[in-house]
Amino acid sequence: MESLIFIPRTAVSKTMTTPQNLPSIGHWIDGKTVNGGTRSQEVWNPATGAAEKSLQLADRETVNMAIASAEKAYPAWRATAPLKRARVMSNLKVLLEKNAEKITSLLTAEHGKVAGDAMGELQRGIENVEYASYVTELLKGEYARNVGPNIDSWSELQPLGVCAGITPFNFPVMVPMWMWPMAVACGNTFVLKPSERDPSSALLVSQLALEAGLPPGVLNVVNGDKEAVDTLLDDARVHAVSFVGSTAIAEYIYSRGCAKGKRVQALGGAKNHAVVMPDADIENAVTALMGAAYGSCGERCMAIPIVVCVGDATADAVVAGLKTEIAKMKVGPGTDAKNDMGPLITKPHFEKVRGYVEQGVKEGATLVVDGRGVKVPGHENGYFMGACLFDNVKSNMVTYKEEIFGPVLGVMRVKTLEEAMKLINDHEYGNGTCIFTRDGEAARYFSDHILVGMVGVNVPLPVPVAYHSFGGWKRSLFGDLHAYGPDAVRFYTKRKTITQRWPSAGVREGAMFSFPSTK
Ligand code: NAD
Repeated sequence: MESLIFIPRTAVSKTMTTPQNLPSIGHWIDGKTVNGGTRSQEVWNPATGAAEKSLQLADRETVNMAIASAEKAYPAWRATAPLKRARVMSNLKVLLEKNAEKITSLLTAEHGKVAGDAMGELQRGIENVEYASYVTELLKGEYARNVGPNIDSWSELQPLGVCAGITPFNFPVMVPMWMWPMAVACGNTFVLKPSERDPSSALLVSQLALEAGLPPGVLNVVNGDKEAVDTLLDDARVHAVSFVGSTAIAEYIYSRGCAKGKRVQALGGAKNHAVVMPDADIENAVTALMGAAYGSCGERCMAIPIVVCVGDATADAVVAGLKTEIAKMKVGPGTDAKNDMGPLITKPHFEKVRGYVEQGVKEGATLVVDGRGVKVPGHENGYFMGACLFDNVKSNMVTYKEEIFGPVLGVMRVKTLEEAMKLINDHEYGNGTCIFTRDGEAARYFSDHILVGMVGVNVPLPVPVAYHSFGGWKRSLFGDLHAYGPDAVRFYTKRKTITQRWPSAGVREGAMFSFPSTK
């Protein structure tokens, strides 16, 4: 399978500026690995700090080729029985499970995730494929008989045509599977543009999809950067765009895509707060917070970087508990299953996160645990950082307002639940939140009034399962429909309502000039 991803150096065009001796990664178009673009960039192993692969960056011509392939495949795929499309998804689920280790080792090599975390990501992706295999049920539509004399009416969900997906680095295998499996199960064809930082797992999955029976051209993958994205946004043959990434880019994608008349959903960044009430089971809340704050090095859009403690006694107990737990954490390469936290994704990001810690100190927050000094023997050039914990974070601090996307947790102290909720509701982002409490009334009030799209009660990462939909509020999502689950069926289809009359033989009706109604 690797030979399909990596193009032998001899096959790489002479005009490409690929660094010497690095395996070159191309694109997946029309069921084949192809070269495209004259620019390239390195793919790094964040645990070693070494460039291990060279990624070809698609130019306009390459993206055009992918769109053309998707457009060509569309009529036959649209006409394919939904049950047959569903079977491809069932086959793919089996192949993904069979190839799980191969896929997760790519996640570890390019993203740095530790084994258990990588497997969790893949499993969540597989669940989306599984949900797409129920598409026959999901596309059934609605039917009403005798809406008028001899008239029946029904609504059906028709595919849109060529759709595109642009995905972030932090879930390189799962987020693409939020998009294309349901899109193609609904009868669309697809062009995916994965993150240029960790592109290989999405490519491997596309090859498995071919093996599962997906016809060539139904799913295409172009690797690249802004040039590839802008080409997808501007091309009239692309009818819908799904995006997941940072808020600045989400807003750009949404406005440019909408201006071009496309249907767009663009999921952006986050700053998720957990509230700990004085009556909470503090020990459980602390262990839950550890995973939510530091799992995947804090590089999750549903991570918890802020914990708002109601009352000083609650805050003191939470800070003490977190300090004890942090001391037990193992930081190191994802290849060692004993590690809890791997490296950050790239050197610039590593430096940016360290800069935020510096900024927090300058702003006057209390740095209770400083993970910046953590060294991993044998991996001195890796982008490792230990867990950092701030106390006394205030709402005017940059470290509070901005998304850090690293292993940095800040504790805020408030007096009441209302005060905690005001902080959350006033924040720019509204992706996820949770409350730790034993009080059902407080939990119910919180869930009802908080201005956030995904809410947990004693659940730190309330990421909806594949048969619900995922999405934030405020500047965490641009568009109306959430990702995956039932909203994905709505996003990737157009409703058509057909009204049909078969008059009885021999009955002649005169012209009717009044507006037809049932009286
Ligand atoms: P990013 O916005 O830098 O990149 C996302 C995608 O956009 C990539 O494919 C990238 O190639 C492309 N891109 C980047 N700059 C572009 C530009 N100027 N023009 C056109 N395309 C461009 O995000 P990232 O760093 O890969 O991922 C981390 C971010 O994603 C965080 O902000 C995180 O919160 C967010 N995220 C959100 C969700 C969610 O569901 N809301 C899920 C995962 C990640």
